[in-house]
Amino acid sequence: MLILLKPNASAGQIEAISARARELSLVPQPVRSGGQDVVSLSGATSGVDPGAFSALPGVAQVLQVSAPWQLASREFHAADTSVDVAGVRIGPGRFTVIAGPCSIESPAQAMAITHAIKAAGAHMLRGGLYKPRTSPYSFQGLGEAGVAAIDAVRKQTGIAFVTEAVDERSLELIEQHADMIQIGARSMQNFALLKRAGRSRLPVLLKRGMSATLEEWLQAADYVLSGGNAGVVLCERGIRTFNTHARNTLDLGVIPAARELTHLPILVDPSHGTGNSAHVPAMAMAALAAGADGLLIEVHPDPAQSISDGEQTMNPERFNSLMKQLRAMAPLVGRAL
Ligand code: PEP
Ligand code: MN
Repeated sequence: MLILLKPNASAGQIEAISARARELSLVPQPVRSGGQDVVSLSGATSGVDPGAFSALPGVAQVLQVSAPWQLASREFHAADTSVDVAGVRIGPGRFTVIAGPCSIESPAQAMAITHAIKAAGAHMLRGGLYKPRTSPYSFQGLGEAGVAAIDAVRKQTGIAFVTEAVDERSLELIEQHADMIQIGARSMQNFALLKRAGRSRLPVLLKRGMSATLEEWLQAADYVLSGGNAGVVLCERGIRTFNTHARNTLDLGVIPAARELTHLPILVDPSHGTGNSAHVPAMAMAALAAGADGLLIEVHPDPAQSISDGEQTMNPERFNSLMKQLRAMAPLVGRAL
């Protein structure tokens, strides 16, 4: 249940609404989402009479959202949302390309790839400091040792940077050294991490779990939103199916389906979605045609030498030609790249 507040609702009025919620054994959480101040109520709300709140001072509307996700829903917020990441806008009318290596490997690699993707027209850098790897013997990322490389890149180039948090500790470090927090597919239902991300001032890139339904994904988004963080961007990265021809099955059909249910921006990651760099351009173009708000693409100065995910990683030259194709196509579907 969402209590939509009047624009001038006072702190005292919000506290009175929260006190009424606690009397009804509900947990109130004031949040600001999509430019609207709201008190979101959790607990057994289905039997609660909206009249318990509608007459309280400061209340504009009581919304009983039918879906189990609320703040991500179109019922709450009809218009598409834009998320600002350090000056880069992700949302309607734009097509935002985030690129970079699977892992940050060295200061030289981080600097070289940043210059390359910027020259090709990418808007943001993504590179893993903490890597959630299937095998414990695989490279786990530089972690804190990679922070200096990122600090130098951001200082010298001004590029906005997103990287994955794998636990609360890494999230806290990332908050000091990045502009956006990635929550990876494997962590989409790490509820403690989602709650912590909900308390962050940084926007969140929320990847779809590899076996998550759209509904589960949107409820994960509400974990972040209901903590008070309105900056959530979804990212489709492929799901696990019976297919053996690709690392994952990139579910582009989820884009129009998600558009019906949520106002949040949606990116597509054709690198993890295919597992094959030769297949990335086709699926990147298809994502643009399908209405995605942008892409997440793995690019490395020398993919054959990449410590992780080399097979699906483009070299700067191929990335540059993909960007040219995307720039030609974007205006046809009402997007500025
Ligand atoms: C990644 O972005 O490098 C990554 C591990 O992605 P995912 O969580 O989608 O597997
Ligand atoms: Mn990767």
